[in-house]
Parts: sequence; structure tokens; C-alpha cells
Amino acid sequence: MIQFRAIWSIIKMFRHRYRKQLIVITGILIVYWMQSCFYREVDYIFVNKNTNQKCVIPNMDPLDKSILQFYLHLDPVKCEQTPDLVFVDSKGVLHVNQSAVADSGYRDVSCSFSVIKRLDDYEVKRETEVHFGKSAYVEADFFLVKCKDDEFRIVYEKLHHTIDYKSQMQHHKLLNDSKKHLNVYIVGMDSLSRLAAERTIPITLRYIEQDLGGYIMKGYTKVGVNTFPNLVSLLTGKVSYSNELPPHVEHLDPYPFIWKNFSNSGYATMFSEDLPDMGTFTYWKGFKDPPTMHYMRPFYVALDTFGLPNTKRAFLALENNNINLGRYSALCVKNTPKHHFYMNYYKQFIEFYGNKRKFALGWLNELTHEYDNLVQLADRDYMLFFKWLKESGRLDHSILILMSDHGIMQKAIKNTLAGRTENRMPIFAIVIPPHLKTKYPHIPRNLNTNTKRLTTVFDVHEMLVDILESDFQRSKNPVNELAKLPRGISLFREIPERRSCDDAAIPGDYCVCDSYEPMDAKSAISKDIGQFLVSHINQALSKHGDKCAILQLSEIKDSFFVKSNLQRRRENEEFTLRTLFRSDPDIKKYLNVFETRPGNALFEALVSTNDNGSYDVIGRINRVNKYGNQSWCIDEKFSKPLCFCI
Ligand SMILES: [Zn+2]
Repeated sequence: MIQFRAIWSIIKMFRHRYRKQLIVITGILIVYWMQSCFYREVDYIFVNKNTNQKCVIPNMDPLDKSILQFYLHLDPVKCEQTPDLVFVDSKGVLHVNQSAVADSGYRDVSCSFSVIKRLDDYEVKRETEVHFGKSAYVEADFFLVKCKDDEFRIVYEKLHHTIDYKSQMQHHKLLNDSKKHLNVYIVGMDSLSRLAAERTIPITLRYIEQDLGGYIMKGYTKVGVNTFPNLVSLLTGKVSYSNELPPHVEHLDPYPFIWKNFSNSGYATMFSEDLPDMGTFTYWKGFKDPPTMHYMRPFYVALDTFGLPNTKRAFLALENNNINLGRYSALCVKNTPKHHFYMNYYKQFIEFYGNKRKFALGWLNELTHEYDNLVQLADRDYMLFFKWLKESGRLDHSILILMSDHGIMQKAIKNTLAGRTENRMPIFAIVIPPHLKTKYPHIPRNLNTNTKRLTTVFDVHEMLVDILESDFQRSKNPVNELAKLPRGISLFREIPERRSCDDAAIPGDYCVCDSYEPMDAKSAISKDIGQFLVSHINQALSKHGDKCAILQLSEIKDSFFVKSNLQRRRENEEFTLRTLFRSDPDIKKYLNVFETRPGNALFEALVSTNDNGSYDVIGRINRVNKYGNQSWCIDEKFSKPLCFCI
């Protein structure tokens, strides 16, 4: 009671002495509270009710105005410059780097390693230190190396990784890869849409398309909200959270993951994923035993436990906006950008197993999970990784896949017109070996057709089954168009054009498909759009001086209103003042097929209009009839189909 009186008298004293200040502070707190209640960004809810219609895949511009405001070009990652005092060679042997030691100036350097042992998916421990002279083969994938100088000071301490293939080969009978038995290398990045990939990793995408002859799926759509359901369907072919799978509340070991089948067919297997506190499978109970022969999770758990406090990650939000406060980036562990650990482990897996069959799934979260710009810092490294694969002949017996599970999840981006589509359409690119193209010509033909069809992880799973069973013939048979379409159709088989979201098991929440509504080609708006497109072409050609004729519109051949079937459900959204005052711009899309003269060129283009009636071209204007030698005077790829040389 006495204590209570004492406290009350202190409050009274404060009330009198700091009255004005208290009023101001209370006012600020109330304003802050109101702001957080009413102005908060909430998820806009869009649902597609026409999920049983033939899918028209939306065509968006990767540089759409609504999304470009979030994009920033970043400075390269800066890490410490000190060299590693040890390295693992291409046979998996750990060595002291004698020249680095000599350069360091330390005397009588002696090094030891402590193996990192996985206790479960959440805990690791360090085993006893083992001193090694110049080199040693470590019988584990992860270990902490310490080096001391002549005064027993620790001069080097870093986590290292290798692929302990020797121990695995004692327990598993691995078979050789061949033209028939292909390796599968899946390189995954979380939360990366195809359009975001075009903005942020253009060097990698160009390399995949132009140098590796890869295919990029433009209708690839997510089937679940976030990572878990999409990856589970990729790896099992089943629908997550359904009775098709064992209950997910327990360890996931009983799940029929396809890497088990690959392992049973003589494959070495690997799964690596960074950011252990956000692990795809550990959000549930994770795995009791390592799910694959090589499993990188303990490395990242050890990095957080012994190497790098998580708090540094707070700086990433600033770095995503190109604000670098420290001397070195929060993306580094000492001298190494963190994504290098992931890529080097992947490379060791591929290199050390040589010509043994291999199945690898790598999933990189940190650069993309919460931030939309950071991934550009790894663009060149991804390209170099793929270049290393190609130039060392390691793609000759392999399928390479670059993929994601969904687009960016940040509400501010997801709520834009482009973000709405991007969130639902992740990147998916695939490279197949040259002999597959020549021996089974239907496969490249179908893959090419399927780049423009509605596709999902269920299709990828079916393709993985084809690869697992080395059956490249059955995809030659067309799907029975008259029967109900199967949920998953191998990407090697032609996916029917008529496929709807219902056919592909894409729920209405994620179904981005538009539909075409025919319009009168002679209507004023169709002609207006045609005129706009012709002047757009003339303007684009003006940079070539007077080489090209000035085109005129001769006829509108076809015109469609492109109906977006994703309809907003405001009644299901949380209320905030922001949504009350901010309305979506009313953007309409049209598809126009038109003829110009001279030259009778036929073009097709997608156009958007906004509230103020101005037009924008979405993507490119495509020439749909042959231009023969009409464009002899132009070499530039984009102008050539448009120009009528004079
Ligand atoms: Zn994800």
C-alpha cells in the first residue's frame, strides 16, 4: 500500500511538472495508433471466378509503371578482403593454403577442424577439434576450421563445407549417368516472378535462352499460397494440406518425395536451403533424418549458431534500397557473400560425384524472400555457375531447371496491377541436353509450345517422373483432348491450349487467366487503337532515318477486349483508411490485329488504356505474316519485322 502511494505521488509530480510534454507524447501515440490502424497496407483480395475457361495468359510488361517504382539498381556486394587460409580441392581434400599463409605474415600456423554434427533440424554441435598438418579428408560435409599462430592466437576461424562422397558411397550403390539416365539440377530461388527475374537477373536469363537454348515458361502459375504447398507438389505430385499426403503436423519423413525414388535408382541426392529460421519444411516439424544424402541445413544452422548473429539481417532492408551503412555488406560472412556458400556446395556436389547420377535441389531464400532488389547482386554469379556447367560438359547428361515458387509477397508490391500477376507467376526455365533434342524432336517442339501454355509444378513433377523412368517416348502421345485433362501433364508432352485453371488444379485465388471478348473491328475505339499502334511503329522506326516507309493503317482485322477475370473482393478485405481513399486505376486491355501499307504487313499488339484515355503498348508489336525481303535494309532484331524498306 505504501509502495502504491509512493508510485502515485511520483505520477502526480510528473503530471504537474511535465504536463505539456505528456500531452504531446500522448498525442503522438494516438496519431501513431490511428495511422497503424487505418493506413496500414492490407492484402487486396482478388479471386478468379471463371476458372473453367480456356486460359489466356496475361501479358505484362516487366517494366510496368506500377512496379518500376520499387526497382533500384544496387552497388555490388562488398565483403572483407582477407583470403581463406584453407581450401577444399576438387577431390574433397582439405588443405592449408600455404601461399595465403605465407602472404599473411603469421608464423608457424597450425590448423584444426571440428566437424559440425546435426542433432536435429534445429540444433547442431561441434565435435572435438582435430589437428591436421597440411591436408586431410574430412568425413563430414560441414566443419569449423581454426588456425593459430606461433603465439597460439586464433588467426583464422571459419565454417567450411565439402561433399563427403566417400562416406555416402560406402552406403549407397550409385550408378553412372548417361544419355538415358539424366542428372537433375534444380536451382531454386524463393519469391521470384518471371517478370521480376527479367528485371533483376537479365544476364542469367539471357544466358539460359541464348547460350543454353533453354525454355522459359510464360504461363507458369503457382498452385498454393507460399513455398510449402508449391514445393511439396513439385516433389510429390500431390496436393498439400489434403488427404493425399500424411498429416503435416508430424515429421515430413514419410512424404513421398521424388528424391527418394531417384536415390533408389542409383542417384546421389542433395537438398540445400538457406535461412534456417524460414525453412520450407521446418516451419512444420522438419525431418527426423536428413531427407537427402547431402543436406545443407546444418551448415546454415551452424552459421547462425557459431558464425553470424541474425540481427545483421536487419541491415538488408536498407541494402535493398542501396543504403550501405557498414563497411561490409550484411550479405557477407567475413570474405564470402553468403550465396557463394550455396553455389559452391552445389558445385562440389556436381564435381565430386563425377559421372555418377545426381539429383539436386537448391533453394535460395535470403536474396529474394523479403526483398525485391537484392537478387540482382547474384545475377552474374548464377550465369557463371551455369557457364561452368556448360563449358565443363556437365550439362551433356543433365536437365537444368531455374525456378521459383511464387512472386514477391510484400503487400505494397503485390497490391499493384503488375504485382498482382507477378505474385502468382513464378519464374520457370529449363535447359535440356542437345542429344535429347535430336533423338526426340517432339520434346523441344512441345517444350517450345508449352512456353505459351498454362503450366504448374504438377507438370514439372510428371516430367521428373519421365526422367526418373528414362521414358522419353510416352510424351510423344498427345493428351486425349476429349477426356478430362489430367492434373499434371509432363512438360515434355504438349499441353492442350484449351487447358483451364480447373484442369490444372490452380485455385481461383491464384488463377491469373484473362479471356478474350470479340469486339467490332470497325468500332471507333478499335480504329483509334490501330492508329495509335501505327504511329508507335513509325516513331520506333524514326531512329533509322529515312530507310523505312512511313506506314499507314489500312484495316483492322481483329479486335478483342481482354477481360481480366481476377475480380477484387473488397468485402473480404480488412478495413483501412488507405483502401477507402485509394482506388485502383481503371486499366483496360485490348488485343488488336491490323494491316498497314505499303507492304500489307499484319501486326498484333496488346494495348492498355487508363482513366485519362491514353494508350500504352504492352510487350512488343508482333509481325504475324512473313516479312520476306521487305526489311532488307535493317539488321536490328526489334525493328526488322516492322520496317518496309524504301
Ligand atoms: Zn516461397
